[in-house]
Amino acid sequence: MNQFASHDGELLVGGERLSVLAARVGQTPFYAYDRALLRARVGELRTALPPTVKLHYAMKANPMPAVVGFMAGLVDGIDVASAGELKVALDAGTNPAEISFAGPGKRDAELRQAVAARVLINLESFREVVALEAISSELGLPARVAVRVNPDFELKGSGMKMGGGPKQFGLDVEQIPDLLANIGRAGLAFEGFHLYAGSQNLRPESICEAQQKSYELALRLAQDAPSPVKFLNLGGGFGIPYFPGEQRLDLTPVGDNLAQLAQRAQTELPQASIVIELGRYLVGEAGVYVARVLDRKVSRGQVYLVVDGGLHQHLAASGNFGQVVRKNYPVAIGSRMNARDVETATVVGPLCTPLDLLADRMTLPVAQVGDLVVVYQSGAYGASASPHGFLGHPACVEVLV
Ligand SMILES: *Cc1c(COP(=O)(O)O)cnc(C)c1O
Repeated sequence: MNQFASHDGELLVGGERLSVLAARVGQTPFYAYDRALLRARVGELRTALPPTVKLHYAMKANPMPAVVGFMAGLVDGIDVASAGELKVALDAGTNPAEISFAGPGKRDAELRQAVAARVLINLESFREVVALEAISSELGLPARVAVRVNPDFELKGSGMKMGGGPKQFGLDVEQIPDLLANIGRAGLAFEGFHLYAGSQNLRPESICEAQQKSYELALRLAQDAPSPVKFLNLGGGFGIPYFPGEQRLDLTPVGDNLAQLAQRAQTELPQASIVIELGRYLVGEAGVYVARVLDRKVSRGQVYLVVDGGLHQHLAASGNFGQVVRKNYPVAIGSRMNARDVETATVVGPLCTPLDLLADRMTLPVAQVGDLVVVYQSGAYGASASPHGFLGHPACVEVLV
């Protein structure tokens, strides 16, 4: 399932042998992200999606400045969710016209920064309209806004649902006509709609259905808009396979469906660019987390490999970042890729809690102290989504290779 090659029994990351990369980094644990794999993933998407659909990177998946800078050169825009992320996206040289800012709790100071930066703000409350009217007149810059809609449907089969039913994100469809009227009265620069139904979906038919319904909904709402729709963000939610038995998302039907919608938009919303925003699908499979075996113990017949990395740096792989039933991320012994001699082992981190588990009773090559354990599918929601301060261990390093 993983994208990385190996050579002479060693995993290659960015074309480099893992042991040499570890020496270059100078410590374990570390995260490494592979430029060639990032570039290849964007290439696959460009092939599958219609050329008129814009591809945005949702940088919360991996906000490392070097990654954002690299992605900024490959995609059409960056989606941010805080003023901190906005700074990284601007520093990366992203054209502000192609940055959009979403989030259910934007502070007035953040709204002010976003207006000054001339980025698109995805409005998620009536209060934001009032705040933006004041900021716009103070700065002499009309805020560029899109409306984030909480739709009246869900993205079926999603790991995380972010639309449908009661939600803190966006505004309910029923409230949108009122909001659009307020935007018009406040003199904000209305640009379009943002719909985001959910994340981590591996079912093309569900993604297509959500994108179709989102398009129809936007078309209906556009009738009440103060000006023509220029921006239509249909969301994303493309998942990656993490666990045994999960099938890779087939992009072909998703691309075909978007091509039909893009075709319709040419006449129905002639000024609109269709945008999709992806996080983990762009970066998740291009990253590994690497930790070194500190100890090898046997407890009542069960082998434990104790490594120097764990939950504090990779909460998701430990199973504590939104999973309902804990499953193992794909794990390998990166220094023994060809080993025939296997055993059942449990890989745990150094933290004094049973939650610090990276692999539970997995079949792995027999590993010894000093070996390098690799967790695949670690390019998204890894370092930045983990409680680094928990238990006071040294910081990890991230490299782009
Ligand atoms: C989190 C988020 C994304 C990215 O989700 P992935 O599952 O990483 O693709 C995109 N858009 C919005 C609005 C989000 O909140």
